[in-house]
Amino acid sequence: MVEEEPEPEPRESKKIIGITGGIGSGKTTVSKFIEEAGFPVYYSDVRAKDIVNNNPPLERQIKNLLGERAYDENGFYSRRYVGEIVFNDEDMLNQLNSLIHPAVKVDFENWVQEHNTPFVFKETALLFELKLNESCYKSILITADDNCRLKRVMDRDNKTYREVETIMQNQMPEKDKIKFADFIIYNNDGLAELKAQTHQILLELKNDLVEK
Ligand code: ATP
Repeated sequence: MVEEEPEPEPRESKKIIGITGGIGSGKTTVSKFIEEAGFPVYYSDVRAKDIVNNNPPLERQIKNLLGERAYDENGFYSRRYVGEIVFNDEDMLNQLNSLIHPAVKVDFENWVQEHNTPFVFKETALLFELKLNESCYKSILITADDNCRLKRVMDRDNKTYREVETIMQNQMPEKDKIKFADFIIYNNDGLAELKAQTHQILLELKNDLVEK
């Protein structure tokens, strides 16, 4: 008689809340408020930067795709060089993303298991574009008028109006993102107002948990 393997203990399901928005909308600022309130936030872009420098098989695949110069003389991923190649080559960008995104997905799944809060938050500019919202319990979109975002990013990054405008034009239009979002934060006012809206959403999420 073959002894049956015991069923693995079900992992406590944690609810993933996606945080997204276009450039300069306030994703990072909202995420910091959420962390201050005691919830963990996974910063996809920050983690991705780390992953490309700490994952030798991925590094090999990226070099095979883009050449050895994708990593600089100190062995670090060269965003500048890679950016120049993929900027005008959508096919190459897609191929690069098809290498990096699965690695980020695995990293995120491991990260989720390290946290024991009922909600974990994932900040990513590409929540709807990559359909990552499909694996989220709820999504939060932060949005603000274009002029407001332009000014904030120009101040923050020392970029020109034209540079920021080009990035904005290449992102999914706000009106499309709004259709997908469960919660929408309008970030045209001050930080106190932004914090208040964030806390209101946290309250609704907590209430939702109690009701279920
Ligand atoms: P990116 O997509 O470029 O990473 P982001 O969506 O994460 O941007 P933040 O970095 O949070 O946006 O905000 C952009 C800039 O605007 C930051 O310098 C931030 O401090 C500032 N900012 C955000 N919201 C407000 C606000 N309500 N009042 C004043 N400044 C703000």
